[in-house]
Amino acid sequence: MPFLGGKELAQVYAKAKREGFALLANNFAETNVLLGVMAAHAAKRSDVLLQISQGAAKFAGGGNALAGLRALVSYVRALAATQKIGVFINLDHVTPDAIDSFIVPALQEGLCSSVMIDASDRPFEENVAITQKVVELARPYGVLVEGELGRIKGVEEGIVSDEAFYTDPDEAVEYVARTGVDLLAISVGTQHGVSAGRELKLRVDLAKKIDEKLKAAGLERPLVLHGASGLTTDQVRALVAAGVCKVNKDTTYQYVYARTAATFYIAQRAEVLPPDGVPFDPITFEAQGARWSPNKKVFDPRVLGKEIQAAIQRVAEEMIDQVGSGGRSLYA
Ligand SMILES: [Zn+2]
Repeated sequence: MPFLGGKELAQVYAKAKREGFALLANNFAETNVLLGVMAAHAAKRSDVLLQISQGAAKFAGGGNALAGLRALVSYVRALAATQKIGVFINLDHVTPDAIDSFIVPALQEGLCSSVMIDASDRPFEENVAITQKVVELARPYGVLVEGELGRIKGVEEGIVSDEAFYTDPDEAVEYVARTGVDLLAISVGTQHGVSAGRELKLRVDLAKKIDEKLKAAGLERPLVLHGASGLTTDQVRALVAAGVCKVNKDTTYQYVYARTAATFYIAQRAEVLPPDGVPFDPITFEAQGARWSPNKKVFDPRVLGKEIQAAIQRVAEEMIDQVGSGGRSLYA
């Protein structure tokens, strides 16, 4: 199945909303995470949504975000052609200053199925205006747009109540009505964006209320949960039941990657690092004053890479079970 566009992704979300499951939105910046995530979704027969942030694109492009995006997307395209499941790409957290340099070329070159514009740190009216602009740009390409609403009130007085970090249901209705966004990222107490670093209570009831108000206004949308790493299975399932159809996952993969690498190299230390005090030249491969050489069966980066891919696959399969997307592919 080739890499698919916004029209097909909208069908997946419609099914998710109807049947009460969510897609994981999987961030990646390099190929081990990507391959592990793909393998997990193929094994579980779930369509897969991959996410590329501006930072990830910049990393992959050696500092050039657009070059990095093109490179990552062509890699995904080639892999997608080997899969039966639907493969989608979302541009994650694009900031308003990057609309012309990142979103516009991505739309023109068909590099994404959806895009998230993040103007949630701006005042409400400005967020609406910026989101409207991206929706207008994306429409002709059939690319879906995700907007985010997490208001901050009273900041100018220097006192911010915790309540101010939650999405207001009435404002959510107004925001969707005026912008026409296809997906709405809400702030219900997960550690993300404006609420990062604060101890907020998780408000499943609020997600439900936002979903109900949108439905009542004829504006039902898949809700999006950011900052979702660290939630329990029960919490994730309750949020999915309340209308969340997209659950972002980045931090979990980063940690699993680092943990797998650390565990592997600590266990294999003697195969990679020379004995203490023995200088070893990586060009001549000479160890001074000792009979030691590193073990290629260990230090070949593909050996660690396979371990990472397998670990990512395991954790992704577990999280697919949490959101309930396994066995629900529209294509496989
Ligand atoms: Zn996010």
